[in-house]
Amino acid sequence: MNLPDTIVCVDCGQPARLMTAEPEFGWECGDIVAYRCTGCHDRWDVVIGDEDSDLPSETSLMVRQWFLDREDQKG
Ligand SMILES: [Zn+2]
Repeated sequence: MNLPDTIVCVDCGQPARLMTAEPEFGWECGDIVAYRCTGCHDRWDVVIGDEDSDLPSETSLMVRQWFLDREDQKG
């Protein structure tokens, strides 16, 4: 599973950079990663989820939306 190095801050629209180092064996569902916004310096804790997750949250949805947007941009 690959994670974006940056996500778009939902508060200010600036990029938020990944602060958490990738584990030796890669990311897994349920891992929590943190992003720091370069604009408003808010911290975003993101729970990695997948389509089958029973635990939707705003943050996992935010990352999911990022993937969906990226898929759209591929055309
Ligand atoms: Zn921000």
